[in-house]
Amino acid sequence: MIFNWPQTPHQKQIRYLQELISKKTFAHAYLFYGSRGNQKERVAELFMASILCVNQNEVPCGQCSDCLQIKNNTHPGVVRIQAEKGKKYIGITQVFAMRKKLSLHSFLNSYKVAIIEGASDLTLEAYNAMLKLVEEPPQNTLIILVASAVHTIPLTIISRCEKIRFGPLIENDLREEENGIEHLAQEFFSGSSEQRFALAEHVSCESQSRIDAFLLHLLSLLRACCFEKIGFAHGSGRGNSRAALLSQAPLGKILLLIEKVYQLRRDAENNSNVRLHLENISLIINELELQ
Ligand SMILES: [Zn+2]
Repeated sequence: MIFNWPQTPHQKQIRYLQELISKKTFAHAYLFYGSRGNQKERVAELFMASILCVNQNEVPCGQCSDCLQIKNNTHPGVVRIQAEKGKKYIGITQVFAMRKKLSLHSFLNSYKVAIIEGASDLTLEAYNAMLKLVEEPPQNTLIILVASAVHTIPLTIISRCEKIRFGPLIENDLREEENGIEHLAQEFFSGSSEQRFALAEHVSCESQSRIDAFLLHLLSLLRACCFEKIGFAHGSGRGNSRAALLSQAPLGKILLLIEKVYQLRRDAENNSNVRLHLENISLIINELELQ
């Protein structure tokens, strides 16, 4: 383990966590969420190490006995769980074992930190056990749930966590670019269903004008696809950037998507739930993937 905060574009989130460390005011449970591959697991690790490090700085020293124990995975105050090898879900026995470890008396009353990686994939029983834990956490205990998707986590758990969002990297990489929104629109069609849901959430938090620009790009991609299907070349040289998925989709589905995006554009002006609409559109695209 490297005892430096990762150089991710999520410096705002890191600064916020460092502030908590310097003030020593923590919530009982945190939910770090966002798309895969954005280093939120490492941020959780550094957060945990900074809390437990004897020197109590914003950056863990990497030298003290606590840091060394963390490094060697032998720290008694650290509990980490993730799905066991070959299994997709975290099971109830793992959560029970974690609860037991957290309830042991801690040395010098110091903090105990639990990190649950893959918190979007627990069995139902495991979620119920987890709920008990976040409802009544043992004293001086901090629970960090790390999840790439939140829609599978029961709301009763989510509502008891302080939520820290790690937006898709694409957001940060492209934000400064003029064509950022267009890339997001392409990503919406070419990415995985998980990425689409992350984008739906991300876009819905944008300003009205950026939401509209995003929807216009979606429409332009869909329209170009329609023209192609009925035998007109449209937007020369742009075909490569369009998702193969759309090219293979039946015309009827493309028209349905166009209708849905139009509807969303109209409703978005009336402050309707943009995220929900985009998620519904995502579901139609997911169906195309299955065909
Ligand atoms: Zn240390």
